[in-house]
Amino acid sequence: MQNIIDYLRVSVTNKCNLKCIYCHPLSDNELSEYQDIMDTNEILHIIKLFVKCGIKRVRLTGGEPSLRNDILQLVNQLSLTEGIEDISVTTNGVLLESMAQDLKTAGLQRINISVDSLDKEVYKTITGFDVLENVTKGIQKAIEVGLKPVKINCVVVKGVNSSKEEIIPLAKMSIDLPVTVRFVEYYPTSNNSKLDKGFVPNIEIKKIIEQTFGTLDNTSEIKGYGPAQNFKIKNSVGAIGFISGRSTMFCDQCNRIRLSCDGKLKPCLYSAKQYDIRELLSKCASEENVLAKMKYIIQKKSNYNKKTRPMEEFSMQSIGG
Ligand code: SAM
Repeated sequence: MQNIIDYLRVSVTNKCNLKCIYCHPLSDNELSEYQDIMDTNEILHIIKLFVKCGIKRVRLTGGEPSLRNDILQLVNQLSLTEGIEDISVTTNGVLLESMAQDLKTAGLQRINISVDSLDKEVYKTITGFDVLENVTKGIQKAIEVGLKPVKINCVVVKGVNSSKEEIIPLAKMSIDLPVTVRFVEYYPTSNNSKLDKGFVPNIEIKKIIEQTFGTLDNTSEIKGYGPAQNFKIKNSVGAIGFISGRSTMFCDQCNRIRLSCDGKLKPCLYSAKQYDIRELLSKCASEENVLAKMKYIIQKKSNYNKKTRPMEEFSMQSIGG
């Protein structure tokens, strides 16, 4: 049976104000030569075409989406777009404290915030910047203004933030705060990545958490449309999630496609195959033709699966995670 593809992740920029070790572009050249990123109208136009192909949920990611001057306008326009039922943003949270209320007012429903460590020094080692305090204030603000759910994403890298001292404080956040703390398995974006040896399967992270807090209870009360498996520490306000893209296979449930900041449609994270939607728009005589091609590409998504490893290096910063 064909999966229903109703979730689109759009990288709205490849610029970022952090340099995370697992996400940073392959070379500094790539960062300095910013790609020809889509403008507001192009993004909205392409997303509306995707809605006609069955997309109902849209996540804005990056790079760092909060760096776009038009991010509030984008969120607002999307919230007014017929057919879009859910809008979310993935951010590093550095600028969130001052933006959370405006994002909420613009129509944002929920937010994912990346926090790989609650230790100031380790956070700086991973991201290159001493801004953990800004991020924690951003998380508080997101909760305060009523963004719901607030999810915390933590990519675990062996020997960097994989110790019990690192994992437990992150897991503990879910006890007192209404957040879902999700541990994301590191995915290598380069064939030569030195970090590849740093892969830690989530089963090890779960073990560390259970040694301290007891057996985690499986929970289905978390609203999500992705592959996360969610659990709760007993009596906690929030939850803990595991996104195990390396150690498990969830291609048969995959509901998402990705659009890069320069307009390339990527049907599967595990394949280097991508389609230039901008080019399609400039070449096709009619919108009907464009739509027919887009629908065909989406329909063929089931041809990809994890066994098709990336054939070339790519930067997560352009794809959006
Ligand atoms: N700047 C935003 C942020 O930091 O969340 C959005 C962009 S970031 C590329 C989106 C997500 O991708 C983050 O949750 C990040 O942790 C995840 N990510 C980036 N590189 C990754 C990798 N190599 N493996 C697994 N997850 C990765």
